[in-house]
Amino acid sequence: MRQLLPVGLLSVVAGCAAPVEFTCLESDPLCEIVTVLSDERPAATGVDIVGLAAYQGVEHWILKDGDTVEDEVRLVAGRDTLFRVFIAPHDDFVSREITARVYVFQAGKLSGAAQANLAPLGVSTETDLGSTINVRIAGSAMDGDATVQVELVEASATASGPEREGDSVWPDGDPHPIVVEQNGGLLRVYYVPVVQKDGDTEYAPDMSDDHVESIRQQMWAAFPTAEVEFVIGEDYTPSYLISDNNAWSNLLNEMVNLRSDPDRGVEPDQYVYGVFSQSVACSGCPAGLSYLAYTESADYSRASIGYDSISAGTMVHEVGHAHGREHSPCGGAAGPDPNYPHEGAIIGVRGYDLLSDVLFEPDTVYDFMSYCWPSWASDYTWEALYQRIKGVNALYNAAPSNARLQNTALRPLFVSPDGELTWGEPLRGELSPGGLSTPVELLDDLGRPVTVVDGVFVPYDHLPGGMIVMPDPGVGRVRVGGRLSPAL
Ligand SMILES: [Zn+2]
Repeated sequence: MRQLLPVGLLSVVAGCAAPVEFTCLESDPLCEIVTVLSDERPAATGVDIVGLAAYQGVEHWILKDGDTVEDEVRLVAGRDTLFRVFIAPHDDFVSREITARVYVFQAGKLSGAAQANLAPLGVSTETDLGSTINVRIAGSAMDGDATVQVELVEASATASGPEREGDSVWPDGDPHPIVVEQNGGLLRVYYVPVVQKDGDTEYAPDMSDDHVESIRQQMWAAFPTAEVEFVIGEDYTPSYLISDNNAWSNLLNEMVNLRSDPDRGVEPDQYVYGVFSQSVACSGCPAGLSYLAYTESADYSRASIGYDSISAGTMVHEVGHAHGREHSPCGGAAGPDPNYPHEGAIIGVRGYDLLSDVLFEPDTVYDFMSYCWPSWASDYTWEALYQRIKGVNALYNAAPSNARLQNTALRPLFVSPDGELTWGEPLRGELSPGGLSTPVELLDDLGRPVTVVDGVFVPYDHLPGGMIVMPDPGVGRVRVGGRLSPAL
């Protein structure tokens, strides 16, 4: 039995004898629902529904070649979703446009409905986006306990083909359950314009609204989250030009220090991203630099930097490191993740970009944590990012506490690419650090070891060095790996 009748809220719109006056805003998903429900059309003849897949970034099959699929690719609550309806026209199908309608229900109530047209040229194929009927459902409809149903109707209100009926509704019964999961709904970025000064000459990054919004949207397209929030921080002016690797490393460490600056008010769940102009020559420098954040509680390592001109792709990669992602093994990327599941860092599962409306084939596109191109998120990276976003939001946003903003008894000691040690600001937060265990010797005034404490090493992604997070020694010097720190 078909279950396409509106229930609950929508019954007031579509089911009443006296129509309810309804004004919808352009962006209101209810407008789309009303448009679909108020436009009854005959079922399409001569064509079958044979497949259904959902795309928020990585392909998630629901129905494939007529069989239901339990796909492990995560569907994220609150995120826009493209449904591709795979169809097979019968041999006698008379060429014309047909409409696919997708209905999403939450706890049995219709939460989203949308439609799209296609004049089918043949059986849908996986690789051809133009061969499927692609229906986009607003993120507000996607949540737990979701079910989905699809139907094919004639694109014209009157025309009905001469062919026999096909399987124009799926499922032909109760809507099909899909698993949609919450991971906190948000990825927060604290975006810092880094302004370089050389005498009277100023090199400022592109902070035009269009450019910054374009980067924000590209970040949203690549990460499994409902929304990406950009907070634009005040300008930061380093005391040097970013013209060599040590300057890169210094700037990244200053971004870590910004996290401890009460005037800035950076929240622990925010990803600090320093962006700067490429106008200053820098030979042999990386395109971006980040800390590798081993755990969701390692807020001090949620810091990255990169050029403004190429920052969308770079930023996705760098903030990926700040989500604890190591390199995927292609293009000579250092420290490749030994657990990456697909040979040569191919993405392994078809991808789809909600922003550019493009498919990425599983065996010719590479994971964006590699150095190979073209790139997109693999299923592996998508899942890991999903889990990290969920972990960060659970720690900081599900149960906010004032303690997270207090200074801890921890302090970072930065290690530059050429091995120079400098102290950072005391860290905020309430959580124990994560990283590679590293013993630190505390020294007395005469340089004699007093005791050994446990620190953790957090590496840079694209340069030698990183930071050692340790209990704040307060005063004096420490020795790590045979190197002597400056005095605190
Ligand atoms: Zn990298």
